[in-house]
Amino acid sequence: MKSWNEVAIPTLDSAIDFPALTLTNSASGVKEPIQSKPLYRMYVCGITPYDATHLGHAATYLTFDLINRYLRASGSEVRYVQNITDIDDPLLERANRDGIEWTDLAHQQIDLFRSDMINLRVIPPVHYIGAVDAIPLVAAAIENLSSKGSIYPVDQDLYFKVHADSQFGQRSHFSQEKMMEIFAERGGDPTRVGKIDPLDCLVWMSQRPHEPGWPSPFGVGRPGWHIECTAIAIKYLEPSPSEDALIDIQGGGSDLIFPHHEMCAAQAQVLSGKPLASTYVHAGMIGLDGEKMSKSKGNLVFVSKLVTDGRDPMAIRWALMKNHYRTDRMWTEELLLAAESELSALRSAVAQSEVAPTKDLVRAIIDSLADDLDTCSVIDSINSWVGLTQSGASGGDGKSLITALDALMGLEI
Ligand code: ZN
Repeated sequence: MKSWNEVAIPTLDSAIDFPALTLTNSASGVKEPIQSKPLYRMYVCGITPYDATHLGHAATYLTFDLINRYLRASGSEVRYVQNITDIDDPLLERANRDGIEWTDLAHQQIDLFRSDMINLRVIPPVHYIGAVDAIPLVAAAIENLSSKGSIYPVDQDLYFKVHADSQFGQRSHFSQEKMMEIFAERGGDPTRVGKIDPLDCLVWMSQRPHEPGWPSPFGVGRPGWHIECTAIAIKYLEPSPSEDALIDIQGGGSDLIFPHHEMCAAQAQVLSGKPLASTYVHAGMIGLDGEKMSKSKGNLVFVSKLVTDGRDPMAIRWALMKNHYRTDRMWTEELLLAAESELSALRSAVAQSEVAPTKDLVRAIIDSLADDLDTCSVIDSINSWVGLTQSGASGGDGKSLITALDALMGLEI
């Protein structure tokens, strides 16, 4: 599937030193430095194309954009792949509810998502792969899992035995009871009769009446959610046989920790005998005015609506960076107003002929980003610099600061 337009990334002074990027690994629960290497493989789970792009989505893709930018600025290549779940129950349910073709809904929402990513200046993935296009890959992965004895049928559907992976549950760290609860809430079917383990996950769903289906060696049907990402990540990130894990970073929102990322990791482990990722990174959830933002509450805030209302996408980006990516946090109008005001002050400051020293500020931005993407400290440092410039400090180079803010933070000043 077509990705979105490239974002130009300026080059930073090659003399700048980049410390190793540390990130909190959800699997270990601690901050860990990312091993220095010339090429990183990063997979971030994409949207199901309905309700795109709310601020929770934006916060997630922004987080991985910051990682992408940091690793590239430090001189490495980043191979970045994202999927789009363009066939799944929620998409069909929404299309039914609204009385439109599911394919039309998906196309509209994918186009909207692309334009939102362009407005937010998110670097596009090198491969942007739809679940429908990935059906042959998914079928091959299921056949491979089946050859290892980890697939079984329930009626005409196929399930993956989660305990075929002896490490199942060790990336998400939930109790059995909690896994059962979350699994039921997030698309799983723990009570289905005929399953060996209640947590076993669907990998192929036979065609249901009035629903689409595609041919496969297992009959006409469609892929399960988790196997789609497992198959796409392994194919398009081209893992190297010499590395310990298939990819470097598996990412998404924290609501993907279980079951989605645990299932993908378990499937990949059985398929390849290796961990799916070295590091699992998860962005916190975004609420609105004190409440969780969710489809069911109908309180989603959309990037496209804010932009249509004349709000600056760079201020949206700035507002999402004012708090740490891992924290569950609230979106408020006050937050956006504060971001607009700070961004405006920054733009006025860099436009002056004399600006406060910039070398230390760029150093502070890099060091804070290296520390688990501490954007709160980055923004504090920038605001302090703006204050110094406003009070007449001089000796800096505004142009080099603009370049650094663009390359590292994705900000168009
Ligand atoms: Zn995924």
